[in-house]
Amino acid sequence: MKKPLLLLLLAGAISAASAQPRIIAHRGHWRTAGSAQNSLASFVKADSLGVYGSEMDVWLTADGKLIVNHDRIYRGIDMERSTARTIRSIVLPNGERIPTLDEYLRTVRAHPGTRLVLELKSLADPKREDEAAAKIVRKIRRYGLEERTDYIAFSINACLAFRKEAPEARVWYLEGDLAPHRIAPLGFAGIDYSQEILHAHPEWVDEAHAQGLEVNVWTVDTEEEMRYFIAQGVDFITTNEPELLRRILAEE
Ligand code: MG
Repeated sequence: MKKPLLLLLLAGAISAASAQPRIIAHRGHWRTAGSAQNSLASFVKADSLGVYGSEMDVWLTADGKLIVNHDRIYRGIDMERSTARTIRSIVLPNGERIPTLDEYLRTVRAHPGTRLVLELKSLADPKREDEAAAKIVRKIRRYGLEERTDYIAFSINACLAFRKEAPEARVWYLEGDLAPHRIAPLGFAGIDYSQEILHAHPEWVDEAHAQGLEVNVWTVDTEEEMRYFIAQGVDFITTNEPELLRRILAEE
């Protein structure tokens, strides 16, 4: 039997309104055996979970190389003031060395099912951020990952540098100090704000959507907070607990 057109339209509208947020593994899937934050294994393990995306952090070293790590100072070594060679001597808890961006991107290329969410950490000065953004975008293109990579940063200068270097790419701002109507004119894909910011401004989810922006929230690790942000209608949830979020989404 043919369904009346109106019913089909209604069903479409309801399913669009209730679309579930997609999962982004924060620093990869690292709370699992054999993994470590920002390691190559963390991307492989995120990919094997079948999540939408996997996030990681990039620094520009003193000698102009790109490496993947979160903390500015890790095991006593400063990521911006040390050479890549020194930084590469650091062994991660899973036995890997701190990856170069090249190593990491080769791993991403070999696992085409998962999107890369690449964060450029805030650097010592805007010129270094511009240099890093240009180098990163060149590498992303060299590895053929431009369709699979989102760029995120706390620095508005870094976000604008990514917009300039890769006008086609999706760029997200992390700092949380700008309302969606201030973000939309910058050409970013959306807001990527902390759960604290979105608790303080719950109206920003609808405001972002009205501006044609999407909403990503971080770092949501408890069942209670996951259910709250699913109900809020965010588009992406970034979490250290991707398996828990997957289970909760299956129940919703
Ligand atoms: Mg990060």
